Formats: sequence, structure tokens, C-alpha cells
Amino acid sequence: MLAYDDHIALALSGGKDSLTLLNILVKLERKFPRSKLTAVCVDEGIEGYRDEALLLASKECKRLGVEQKTVSYKELFGITTDEIVKTDPDKTACSYCGVLRRKAINKAASMVGATKIATAHNLDDEAQTVLLNMLHGDPLRLIRSSPVLRDVRGRFLTRIKPLCDIPEKEIVLYAYLNGLEFQSIACPHGAQALRNDIRAFLNQMDQKHPGTKFTLQRSAERLRELLTKSAPTIGLNDCEKCGDPTPHRYCEACTMLETVAA
Ligand SMILES: [Zn+2]
Repeated sequence: MLAYDDHIALALSGGKDSLTLLNILVKLERKFPRSKLTAVCVDEGIEGYRDEALLLASKECKRLGVEQKTVSYKELFGITTDEIVKTDPDKTACSYCGVLRRKAINKAASMVGATKIATAHNLDDEAQTVLLNMLHGDPLRLIRSSPVLRDVRGRFLTRIKPLCDIPEKEIVLYAYLNGLEFQSIACPHGAQALRNDIRAFLNQMDQKHPGTKFTLQRSAERLRELLTKSAPTIGLNDCEKCGDPTPHRYCEACTMLETVAA
């Protein structure tokens, strides 16, 4: 996942997963003098939620001496998540927020000159995503959720998920044992209903049949290998609005922002 001279941009939210990964990457980075680590934070504009998490993130960066770059939806896209939800309460905040967050992290990582983006997805997140893709009828999406996502066209920064094989329970344990102060309240806009059901189902399965989440993750890895071989590489255009690479005329984020404005 990492090279000795990588400049890693860690997507830091202030939750247990990303604060744990921050602590681990700091230890690793100290062993490699030519490597660099920057924490990138995104303020989505979720009152009473993200502001608190960002404070915890800043506090930990200061304690560990890690440089931090924060960008906000408001400055990048002119609108906050709270405002998006207000324009149409039927809009699922998660689907918008996910796309905009990915774009914001990409932007912040390019601003600091990073060579890789690390995110703190854990085994539970990954196993849920595998089933979510299947239930959405979109198995090809598996390719995009790879633990190491390299763009052969060189247009996107490589994304890595160093904690993808670590169960959520073990991360919670690490965070508690190391006295990490993390945000524990859930986002007020709620999580995707389907993901919540899958989470409950997988926890139940893993309790009854230990190792289920690992097995699912391994199956996805095998499928990914096959899919990557057979799926054609899609050509990229420059988004006519923002210039970011996209297979379409406009990128996903610009298309979404257009519907919000409409
Ligand atoms: Zn765009």
C-alpha cells in the first residue's frame, strides 16, 4: 500500500477509525524520514456534529505534531450538507455527502501535494459495502471499492484502506486502550437504511458463524480480480464544469450540485 517516500493524505474525520489510523500512520511515518503525513479534514457543514469532530481531529493532530488541511463544502461547492437536506427533505443526505466528500478529499490531497490518499474504512464497512453493491445490482462497483485503488490512467490519486481487514471491535479497543478521544454520536442526518440493515445482519451472522465478514471480504477480493481483468478501462473526459476527470460530460458531484440548485 505504501512506498518509503509517499506523502500520505489521511482523510481524518474525528471518529474512532480515522483517529486510530492517524496514530498508526504517525508511528510508521517516523521510521521513514522521506515520507510525509498530512491529515485532510472536510467540514460538510453539519451543525452540532462535524464541528465537534473537527475539534477532536485538530486536537489530536496538534498532540502528534501532524500537519492538517481543512476544506469545507461551503467554500468548495457553495452549499453545506444541512442546506442540501433543507432544499429537499426527501434527498438522502448520505448519497450526496458521499460523492461530495470524496471530491473534497481529492481536492485537499492535491492542494497539499500528496501522492496517496488513505481512508480508515474497516472490515465491517468493507463487508457491508460488498453486500450493498450486490443488493443495489451493481457488482462492478466492487472494483472501485478495492483496498488499493490505482488509476491506470494516472488521473486520480491512489487510494488505500490500511484498516480494511481490521474488525470494527478491534479498532474500538485500540482507541480505548490508547485513550483516544473520538466522536461517538451519529450523524443527525442518519445513515442509509439499507446499510443499517446489512450491518445488523452481518453482526448477527458473524456472531453465529465467526469469520463471516472475513469470508465475504475474501470473496470480494477474488471477484475483483476477475472483474478487473474483464472490465474495459473507461476513457476519461474533463468535466465541463470543474475540469475533474469523469467518464461523462459532467462529473458526479457537478451533476448532483446541479439538481440541488434546481
Ligand atoms: Zn465537475
